[in-house]
Amino acid sequence: MATSLDDELMASLERLRREGLFKAEHPLASRQSAAVMVAQGASSRRLLNLCANNYLDLAADPRLAGAAHEALSEHGLGMASVRFICGTHALHQALEARLAAFLGQPDAVLFPSCFDANGGLFEALLDAGDAVISDQLNHASIIDGIRLCKADRHRYPSGDMHALAACLEAAAGARRKLVVTDGVFSMDGVIADLPAIRALCDTHGALLMVDDSHAVGVLGPDGSGTAAHHGGVRVDIVTGTLGKALGGAAGGYVASSHAVVGWLRQKARPYLFSNALPPALAASALCALDIVASEPGRRAALAANAARFRDELQARGFQLAGAGHPIVPVLIGDARKAAAFAQGLLESGLFAVAFSAPVVPPGEARIRTQMSSGLSAGDIDFAVDLFAWTGRRLGVIA
Ligand SMILES: *Cc1c(COP(=O)(O)O)cnc(C)c1O
Repeated sequence: MATSLDDELMASLERLRREGLFKAEHPLASRQSAAVMVAQGASSRRLLNLCANNYLDLAADPRLAGAAHEALSEHGLGMASVRFICGTHALHQALEARLAAFLGQPDAVLFPSCFDANGGLFEALLDAGDAVISDQLNHASIIDGIRLCKADRHRYPSGDMHALAACLEAAAGARRKLVVTDGVFSMDGVIADLPAIRALCDTHGALLMVDDSHAVGVLGPDGSGTAAHHGGVRVDIVTGTLGKALGGAAGGYVASSHAVVGWLRQKARPYLFSNALPPALAASALCALDIVASEPGRRAALAANAARFRDELQARGFQLAGAGHPIVPVLIGDARKAAAFAQGLLESGLFAVAFSAPVVPPGEARIRTQMSSGLSAGDIDFAVDLFAWTGRRLGVIA
C-alpha cells in the first residue's frame, strides 16, 4: 500500500511540474529583508526581495529580536500548555490589551496564527439557522473556517455590492447574519469597500467581520488597517496576523466585543486545543506596535515605494491589478509565461513569484510583488528595469 501511495503521489508531483504549477522553495541564507541571500548549491546569491509580507521591514529589526531575546531570557522558551490550563502569560494579556486598543475594539484574543483565528471563529459563533456571507476571494482560512460551521453559506463575486445585497436578502430569515471580507485581497492588491459593505450590513441587520492581515500596520493614518483607511468604518470583528507587517514571526488574533472575545476563549477549538503563543513572540509584537506608532515614516516610505513602482511599471506598458496598496500584481496572462517571467527575474537578481490557477482565475497568471519600507528608490528603479527587460524579452510589453 505504502509503495502504491508513493507511486501515485510521485506521478501527481510530476504532473504539477509539467503544468508549471509546482511550488519550488528557495531557502534563504540570510535574514528576511529588502535584499536576501538565497542558497544555490553550495553558495548563495543576493536577490532584491519583492515577495515578502515584510511591509514595514521589521522581520529582522534588532529591536524586535532584542525584545524577544529579553523575554526568552526572562520567561523561557514556551508555555507547554494551552492558554486555559496554565498557558496564559502576562505578556499575552498585555499584547491582547494593546491590540484591542490599537484596533479600536473593546477586547482581543491571541491565536497561534490567523489561520487558526479564522478556523475557530465561525464554528464558535454561528450555528444552524444562522447565515455567513463571504466574498468569493476571501482567504483560504476563512473558507475553511466557514466549512466547519453549520450556518447557511452565501458567497458573492468579489466586491460586487449588488450580489452582496442579494445574499443578504436571501439570508433575511436567519438568526445571526455575518458578512465576512478580507480587508485587502492579497492576489489583487484590492482594498475592500468597507463603507459600502457596512451600509449593507446595517440595512440588513448583519454583523461585519474583516480579516485585516494585509492591512494592519500598513493602511490608515495610524496604521490600524482598512477601516481607518476609509476614515473609520465600524467593524464588529477584526482578525489579523502577527506574521506580516507586525514583525513576520507568528501569531494571530481576533479583536471584538468583550462578549465575542470571552466566548471565543471558551469555545474556539484552535484556542482550546493548540499550544499558547511563545511569550517572546508576544514581546516582539508589542515592540512592533510601538514602532508602528512611533515611526510613521515607515508607512510613508512604503506608500511612496508602491506609488513609484506602480507608476513606473504602468509607464512601461505593464498591466497591473489593484490600487493604493503595497501589493502590486503584474498581469502576465499565460501560466507558463508567468513562470518563465519569474524565473527570468530570479536569474537577473530579483526575487518575485508567479501565481497561476487555481490561486487566480485561469488565464490571469501574474507576478505578485509586494513593496517594503526597506526598499530604496534605487531598488525600485532596478526592479522596474529588470521587469521591463524581461517583459520585452518575453513579449509581455512592446
Ligand atoms: C496571511 C493571511 C492569513 C494567515 O495568517 P497566519 O497568521 O500566517 O496564519 C489569514 N488571512 C489572510 C487574509 C492572510 O493574508
